[in-house]
Amino acid sequence: HGKSIFIDTTRCTACRGCQVACKQWHDHEAVPTKQTGTHQNPPDLTPNNFKLVRFSEHKIDGHVHWLFFPDQCRHCLQPACKATADMYVEDAIVVDEATGIVVCTEKTKELTKEQCDEIIDSCPYNIPRRNEISGELVKCDMCIDRVQAGLVPMCVKSCCTGAMSFGEREDMLIKAKLRLTEAQAEIERPKSELETKIVCDVHKSCTILDEEDLGVIYFLEMPREMYHQYAGREIKPLNRADFLAGLAKPFK
Ligand code: SF4
Ligand code: SF4
Repeated sequence: HGKSIFIDTTRCTACRGCQVACKQWHDHEAVPTKQTGTHQNPPDLTPNNFKLVRFSEHKIDGHVHWLFFPDQCRHCLQPACKATADMYVEDAIVVDEATGIVVCTEKTKELTKEQCDEIIDSCPYNIPRRNEISGELVKCDMCIDRVQAGLVPMCVKSCCTGAMSFGEREDMLIKAKLRLTEAQAEIERPKSELETKIVCDVHKSCTILDEEDLGVIYFLEMPREMYHQYAGREIKPLNRADFLAGLAKPFK
């Protein structure tokens, strides 16, 4: 049920078209950035960047191998951000029933900075950011205005390599599983020596990220920790929201 984006990271060339298109659609101002010794720019998600192509560099058998990860809100089926926000300001974060899109509303302005920090901390993918000027908590809204008008999100529209697809969640899951099967079939017939090495690593590690719980589904060819710290869900210690939810349950 709902809408999903499927991101095949192996087709991403890091052109950053999606990152720019997202900024334009959301009228985000350009903020001057510094060169920080990496192609990733800006270095992290900001209140003006809901989408960020993350770069990571690895040496495999003496050859440099770049991994690209267009990072954004995963539109979790059970969003921890909303559960935490609801403890303080009900419906500051809402889930659109028809599409499953998770949206930060203007009511997030009523949250304190500490409460916003707690919400950010509860997100397994470290996504929301607080706009310190307006006091709002913001993140990707899957271009809900476009989706409701029957259009695809801007990032998907702008991607010319076919790394991103958008549609019904069931269809995106099928696409992701087909891609996994295809990658595993490729492993059976490696072509060169280097490819054999890379392909062997792939064999052990190509994966679909946390797909049962997310509205944004990623296909990866390498272990998740090789992309960035929050690529996949970490098993986090119990946070305050979970703790309080546990207390509210009746004893058996
Ligand atoms: Fe909320 Fe984080 Fe899930 Fe996005 S990825 S819906 S911000 S918990
Ligand atoms: Fe990668 Fe497509 Fe985004 Fe370009 S537009 S950075 S190819 S996902």
